[in-house]
Amino acid sequence: MADRMLQFVRLSQHQPDKRAAAARRSDFGEIYQRFSAERASEQSSRCSQCGVPFCSIHCPLNNNIPDWLKLTAEGRLEEAYEVSAATNTFPEICGRVCPQDRLCEGNCVIEKGFESVTIGAVEKYITDTAWEKGWVKPPSPVREVPHSVGIIGAGPAGLAAAERLRGRGWKVTVYDRYDRVGGLMIYGIPNFKLEKEVVLRRAEQFAAGGIEFVLNCQIGRDISLEELRAKHDAVLIATGVYKARDLGGPGADLAGIVPALEYLTASNRQNLGDAVPAYEDGTLNAHAKRVVVIGGGDTAMDCVRTAIRQGATSVTCLYRRDKANMPGSMREVSNAEEEGVRFAWLSAPEGFEGEGGKVSAVRAVKMHLGLPDATGRQQVEPIPSSAFSEPADLVIKALGFDPEDLPTMFGEPGLTVSRWGTLTIDRRSMMTQLEGVFAAGDIVRGASLVVWGIRDGRDVADQIESYVLAKASSPALAAE
Ligand code: FAD
Ligand code: SF4
Ligand code: SF4
Repeated sequence: MADRMLQFVRLSQHQPDKRAAAARRSDFGEIYQRFSAERASEQSSRCSQCGVPFCSIHCPLNNNIPDWLKLTAEGRLEEAYEVSAATNTFPEICGRVCPQDRLCEGNCVIEKGFESVTIGAVEKYITDTAWEKGWVKPPSPVREVPHSVGIIGAGPAGLAAAERLRGRGWKVTVYDRYDRVGGLMIYGIPNFKLEKEVVLRRAEQFAAGGIEFVLNCQIGRDISLEELRAKHDAVLIATGVYKARDLGGPGADLAGIVPALEYLTASNRQNLGDAVPAYEDGTLNAHAKRVVVIGGGDTAMDCVRTAIRQGATSVTCLYRRDKANMPGSMREVSNAEEEGVRFAWLSAPEGFEGEGGKVSAVRAVKMHLGLPDATGRQQVEPIPSSAFSEPADLVIKALGFDPEDLPTMFGEPGLTVSRWGTLTIDRRSMMTQLEGVFAAGDIVRGASLVVWGIRDGRDVADQIESYVLAKASSPALAAE
């Protein structure tokens, strides 16, 4: 049915409809509606079925995108789901949260002049449909094998590894210090990008498939890494990065200046129905406040848009470069602008003003873009005598994340760290310096993306299996 495809010359690109900004501002529901069956088929048919698909090459999972687009165009959705699920543990989540403009869609060959195929929206449509039709099944091994793995961290990296090894019959135990499964997919990413039910239904499937979750359990405090190593054939560290980059300057210790992740976690917990005292007492709640968010990445966009939904009186994003140089996804910036966020471009904070121990304004200075540095990025320099005050009752610092101070985390001097503070692994085997202890996801890469966590988790599962099988078949190794 080749004539079904190549429709990009006839059909224009349609992203899924967005809810009106006025409606979005007052609730935390996802903002994109779902494609209808007709729209998904039509949009899929725009693909030109490239022999060398750049979309797949630039997808971290190398998804077989042209194949599932063609199957969707032909209405063969169950097969489309099988092809999609073969390379991606969470296609419906990637369809929602991947920055497609920088990955698959940004590299679609019909992008120039015709607008790319809406790959992410189709991927989400296929798997949301699969859930409705009951095609998504728990991991179901053909036979049990006598190997066990202990996974520290129930974020995308840990879960992707867990699903792969459980599917091959391993005994899999996932430990997490939090009370829910999902890592930053639950407590970082806001509902309006990823409704929590989408993550929690996966967690339930995994548990139904025999993956054991030990929650509220912090490795290094409640159980030592040594104990895990003794209990399992291999251990995977997939603990992510959580140390917020900080901001100094006069007044930095005033009340009302909070880190982004604390703020977002409180909001996510509140939306999940948890009791959140810091939200209720106003510490981590933007309601009726003038809010200033400092930073220009995706986390800053999540903060400004959360503050709007909490009923802030004004929300301003302070960023030291201009719009064209923002690190965050342009799609998210547009969404924030539509929802009423004001951007103060080329503005860098220098300190904070306060009244009665509470912040009342951010003291900032205007910047101009100078010459590019060795990396090609334009440097910013302050403009003399351009200082100004931006009034604020709540300031949210969204400047990025670093790993915790390792290796003290597990009290294991054997774990070596890079100069960026990430865990060092052998690039091929993905093993740390500790025998049988592997690492994957943000703890190795630094702050990254869900899709890279999935990729790493799938890859490390293969490496863990190779290691344990080699050890089991070699008496010399097994004796170590
Ligand atoms: P995590 O998701 O961080 O999971 C690590 C888990 O390990 C956590 O559950 C943690 O509780 C647990 N843990 C840590 N230490 C211990 C310990 N000692 N014992 C037991 N458990 C432990 N990516 C996107 O692709 N799209 C987005 O839109 C997006 N938005 C984001 C928004 C925010 C606010 C943030 C902070 C990140 C966002 N990301 C986004 C990035 C993405 O969430 C991460 O790259 C991804 O979750 C990393 O996966 P991970 O499995 O390595 O770690
Ligand atoms: Fe695109 Fe992400 Fe899906 Fe890959 S996983 S096809 S990058 S949306
Ligand atoms: Fe289809 Fe675009 Fe991928 Fe080519 S690059 S296969 S047109 S989605």
